[in-house]
Amino acid sequence: MDDHVKMECGAFGAVNFSEDYIFPTLYWGMRAQNHRGHQSYGFLTFNGKFNVYKGLDLIPKVKKTEIQEWLERLPGSLGIANVRYTTSGGRDEESMIRGTQPVIGENEQHRFALSFNGNVVNTTQLVNEIRCENPNFSYDCDLELISRKLLKELKSGKDLVSSVKTCMKEVEGAFSVVGITQNGELFAFKDPYGIRPLCSGCSADRKICAFSSETVGLNINNLEHNFELKPGEFVLATKDGFKREQLVNSGKKALCAFEFAYFARPDSKMNGKFVYEVREAFGRSLGREYADIVRRCDMIISLPETSDDAAFGLHEETGLRWERAIRRHRYVSERAFILLPQERYATIDKKINILDHKFQGKKIIVVDDSIVRGDTTKVVVEKLRKMGAKEVHMFITFPRIIGPCFYGVDMATYRELIGSTRTPEEIAKEIGADSVNYQSFEGFVKATGLRREELCFGCATGDYPTPLANRLAKWMREYFEKGYKEEGRIYELPDLVQNRLGK
Ligand code: SF4
Repeated sequence: MDDHVKMECGAFGAVNFSEDYIFPTLYWGMRAQNHRGHQSYGFLTFNGKFNVYKGLDLIPKVKKTEIQEWLERLPGSLGIANVRYTTSGGRDEESMIRGTQPVIGENEQHRFALSFNGNVVNTTQLVNEIRCENPNFSYDCDLELISRKLLKELKSGKDLVSSVKTCMKEVEGAFSVVGITQNGELFAFKDPYGIRPLCSGCSADRKICAFSSETVGLNINNLEHNFELKPGEFVLATKDGFKREQLVNSGKKALCAFEFAYFARPDSKMNGKFVYEVREAFGRSLGREYADIVRRCDMIISLPETSDDAAFGLHEETGLRWERAIRRHRYVSERAFILLPQERYATIDKKINILDHKFQGKKIIVVDDSIVRGDTTKVVVEKLRKMGAKEVHMFITFPRIIGPCFYGVDMATYRELIGSTRTPEEIAKEIGADSVNYQSFEGFVKATGLRREELCFGCATGDYPTPLANRLAKWMREYFEKGYKEEGRIYELPDLVQNRLGK
């Protein structure tokens, strides 16, 4: 539970072939996935023209008295939606609204709308390419790069499928995209490595078809989960069902492993398993790997809510009591936080309630999903010590994060990562814990039911699924070790990095 780690986006799209309003389906499908991005949201429907409504913060509640207003604002039986956390573009209010998806791509002949989850890696190359035709091009969201690329291909005379295929080959990064054509067709596609999830589903009568980042977007609409899009696949939703085409075959799958540990909702299904079941297996695996520590401890606690299932698994495996002594303030949203550095205790207190009288003289295992920057963990350990804990052992379900993510998770630099330069023993010292115990890769992989080569572990191994990300990671590491200060998404500035390193 690191307060500052965010996913970039969640996407949803749906069509109602009986031509009823699609907005209610879009609304619930996206609201079920608000955890994937809470800085902005956007809805777009199609009724011969594109109708758009965007806003900042969480998706608002729609009061009964406002339903008609929303339907008039967003008419049509086809639509796409997005929730976003900004990892590209400016973070001021104006830039965030500009960068809010869906994005409309248009030229003289073509028009389409897109919503995506992901991040582009070869931004410099694409921006240079786009600027050959549009010298003043600037962007607030990576999806605009994909949109411009698609437009360029369509303009050259290719059809949509061929244009998407070129994008899959020439855009490097993670992109799970849902879109609408100017003819009112709903489509979706995934990058050749399938880094971000995207699934499809239909109503039992097959009148509604949808694409969703996570299965919870289907569940909330009572839609059946049909299939997870394959890497490099293009899918069109038609009255006769989904039309699937494999456009690019990279021969590799690299689903983000961090989805299982942290991002995905526990009740979503990935690779045929509920995420909470995978997390329980993480806990069991930790129990087996660190049995000697478990034997000498008095209780397990967990940082709600992404670690609760793993704590339950650890409890089941070992029989050690799981004390539910940390609770989340249920109706306090992220937006209410005070984020001034001097108020770090206040920040934790506004998020969770740690019940102090439970820890006096106790040896405690704290289960958490990850340690990214370490600042949150440090504060929690400090608090437990002040409350009288005798020993504090961290059990972490995701292996040690040692490098940045290039694919849509807000961990952009080596400098910010506590694990990039420290061993588990050094991290324990830094955060004041008695020990820090990471789950092994073997334990993690086994719990997911996937093969290791089907998962991206780039941030934990330094081995990324795409070639430019690997090169950039190497340069950034060198840049960092030479003492240069990394800034934000420094991999967007390869010229600077290359010049300084003399590459
Ligand atoms: S680098 Fe890490 S966070 Fe990023 S996609 Fe890979 S596993 Fe996920």
